[in-house]
This record gives sequence, structure tokens and C-alpha cells, in this order.
Amino acid sequence: MNKKIFNAIWIVAIVVFLASLTFIMGVSYNYFSGVQLKQLRTEAELASQGVSMSGMDYLNGLEAKDYRITWIDADGTVLFDNAVNANEMENHLEREEIKEALADGYGESVRYSNTLSDKQLYSAIRLSDGSVIRLSSVQMAVWTLLLGFAQPICLVILIAFVLSFVLASRLTKRILTPINGIDPDDPLQHINEEEYKEIAPLLRRIQSQNEQLKRDQKEIEKAALIRQEFTANVSHELKTPLHAISGYAELLENEMVKEEDIKPFAGKIREESTRMTKLVEDIIDLTKLDNGGVEMKWEVCDLYRVAENAVDSLEATATALGVEVTLGGSDAPVRAIPQLLYSIVYNLCDNGIKYNHSGGKVEVDVQQTPHNTVLRVKDTGIGIPEESCERIFERFYRVDKSRSKEVGGTGLGLSIVKHTVLVHGGKIEVNSEVGKGTEFIVSLPNKPKEIEV
Ligand code: ADP
Repeated sequence: MNKKIFNAIWIVAIVVFLASLTFIMGVSYNYFSGVQLKQLRTEAELASQGVSMSGMDYLNGLEAKDYRITWIDADGTVLFDNAVNANEMENHLEREEIKEALADGYGESVRYSNTLSDKQLYSAIRLSDGSVIRLSSVQMAVWTLLLGFAQPICLVILIAFVLSFVLASRLTKRILTPINGIDPDDPLQHINEEEYKEIAPLLRRIQSQNEQLKRDQKEIEKAALIRQEFTANVSHELKTPLHAISGYAELLENEMVKEEDIKPFAGKIREESTRMTKLVEDIIDLTKLDNGGVEMKWEVCDLYRVAENAVDSLEATATALGVEVTLGGSDAPVRAIPQLLYSIVYNLCDNGIKYNHSGGKVEVDVQQTPHNTVLRVKDTGIGIPEESCERIFERFYRVDKSRSKEVGGTGLGLSIVKHTVLVHGGKIEVNSEVGKGTEFIVSLPNKPKEIEV
């Protein structure tokens, strides 16, 4: 990071510097070319006046060192040249500047010499007799000019390198010092300091993510604790029937049971195994619910029909305990997971029968509004104390443990109901009075949001 920032600053500085140098050189070169051409024209005008007045005498007496002067006749023959013998020079009629001067009175051209290292500037003026005076001077090509400047340019580049190096390392330090000073556990520590103003949004973000992480961590810990408790409870709940079964089996094995007691003992073993099977089934249901019922299929099902089936299958139990179950209401199609919907009605009805008196009643009612479907299960049973009403939905919570065991309860029925209602986006309420009875009211949306297409 340190090196990257440093290199970036350094490279940018050098590139900017070199680009500016090239640009300045280019602009200056253009400007000086223009000035030189202008000067050459002035000199040519002076020379043309001299030649007009004094002819060859003027040229012979001229001491021009900075430029070359040529006098060309109207037919292109070179009459005079101060650098080369005029007789040896070829006809100049085809030269661009001469052609222009003959046509318009003044001509100009720029040509590269053979070596390409230099540029030749020409400025030609037509005299009144039709002949032409031409002046030319040399202008150095850019890179020749650069070569001439090589030493100072190298020096400037060196200085620029050193300067950018020093500046880059200082800037890098200035950028990184506040960043290195951030305490990830307390990012807002320096937020009000000038150096940290620009990275304040980053610091706030780190802070909010820290808080989020802490919350997540707490939730993970809580979930782990709940799982641990659940596992401990499951083991405990399974151990009791297993101990009972192995105890009865041991007695039978050692022939310590009277002939007439063998049947009731076998009955006990069957009872305990049924309890275990029910417990395992409930645990499986809860596990499925913990996964949000993902692998289960949603369908449109009629809650009234579902309730009818549940009531039918509980009829024998209800009759055995002397409880009357009635069903009221009408068709109520809802989008739901069928087996879970069934478990809601079954568990609530089952509880209404189990925690009731002989001669008691359980009323099941299904009603539908345009958006919701409401299931009411009301019994005339033992009721639930106020302080327990909140807790009955917890896993393995029972108001009266021995009564629950006596009636074959697992302590998981209502947690399955509550979880199922939540998976369906609904809510559950309980109204109860000890000694009078209990009413559970489940309200489900007809089309839960999660599955709306
Ligand atoms: P269980 O398998 O013990 O019935 P539940 O989760 O279904 O477990 O119910 C938890 C506890 O809530 C029960 O043990 C019982 O004490 C109480 N309970 C549930 N339904 C009723 C009801 N209709 N009337 C009275 N008590 C109830």
C-alpha cells in the first residue's frame, strides 16, 4: 500500500512534468519560428530596396553572415549568391518561394535540409524589374534544439525527479499516517480531527459494521445456546422413556414379573415407545420448520377441510376422555404447506381435549375474511395461569409436567404450532382463565407474502 501510493504519486508527478516540458518546448519553438520568418522578411525587404537602388554593388558590399542572399533573374537564372558561385547554381524558377514571389510579389517557404537536422527558411521579394531577391536562414529542428539544451534539460529533469521523490514520500506519509492511526475497534476515536475529516464516512462505515458484527455475534451465540439447551432437553426427554423401557424389559428378562403382570408391562413398554416415537416425530417437524419449511410444497388448501380431518382423527381420543368436539365455519381456501396446516389444528385440538375434564367441550371454528383466515380452538378445560401464557410456546415448556406426561405430551406441540404460524406469515393469540378454559386464535394471511407470485 505504502509503495503503491508512493509510486502512483511519483509517476504522476514525472509524467505531468515531462508532458508540460514537451508542451512548452513545442509552443516556444512555434513562436520563435514565426518571429524568425518575420525577421527574414524584414531583411528581405531591406535587401530588395538596396538592390533596386544600387544593383550588384549593393550585394557585393553586403556583409551578411546570419543569412544567405540570392538574386534571381525573372527567368530563374541565379545572378548572385553570397554563399555559392552563382554560375554553378541551377535555374531557380521551380523553387516554391520564387514561384510565389513572381506571381504575387512575395513568397515564403520552409524546407528541410538533406540531413533533416535543420530547417531552411526562405523569404523572396519580386523587384520592379521582375527579378527576385531571396533571403534564407537556417532554423534548427526541434530535436537539434533539444540536443543543444540537453545539459540544462537533464539538470531540470534531475531536479524534478528528486523533488517528486521527496514530495511523493511526504505525501504518502501524510495520507497513510491517519489511516494507520485508525483503531478498528474504536474507529470514531479521531473523527473530529482535521486529518480524518475526509475519511469520516469510511470511519462511520467501519463503526456501523463493527456494531453489526457484534449484533451478529450475539445472535450466533444465542442460537448456539438455544441449540445446546434443546439438545440437552431432547437427550433428557429421550432418556426417561428409554430407562423405563429397559427397566421393564430387564424385569421381564429375569422372569421377575408375575404371569398376570406381563401384559400390563408390555403395555407400559408400548406406551413409552409411542411417547418416544411422538417425540422424535415432533423433533423432525421442528427441524424442518427451523429450515423455514423450504423443502415442503405450498398449495392452496381449505382450512375447513383440514380442520374436519383433524377433528375426525381425534374423535376416538375425545370420546375416550369424554370430551365433545364440534366444528363450525365454512370453506376457507388458503395458500399453505398442507401437512403443517394440519399440525396446527391437530395440536390445538389435541391440547383442548387433553387438558380438559370429562364432559368438557372443544369448539373449533374456521372463518375467512378477504385477506385473512381465522381458526379458533376454544375449550372448557383446566386453563393456563396468566404467567405461563407467554411461555407455553417455548420448546419443552409445560405448565404441569406430570399432567403433560400422563396425557402423552412432548412439550413441543405449541412450539411447532407457533413456528408453523410464523412460517405462514400469521399470528397466534391465547386467552385463558384457570378453571374455565382456553381459547387459541390463529390468523393466517390467505396469500402469504413469501410465496406471492
Ligand atoms: P404438551 O405436549 O405438553 O401438550 P404443548 O407444547 O402442546 O406441549 O403445550 C405446552 C403446555 O401448555 C402443556 O404442557 C400444557 O401445560 C399447556 N397447554 C397447552 N394447551 C393447553 C390447553 N388447551 N389448556 C390448558 N393447558 C394447555
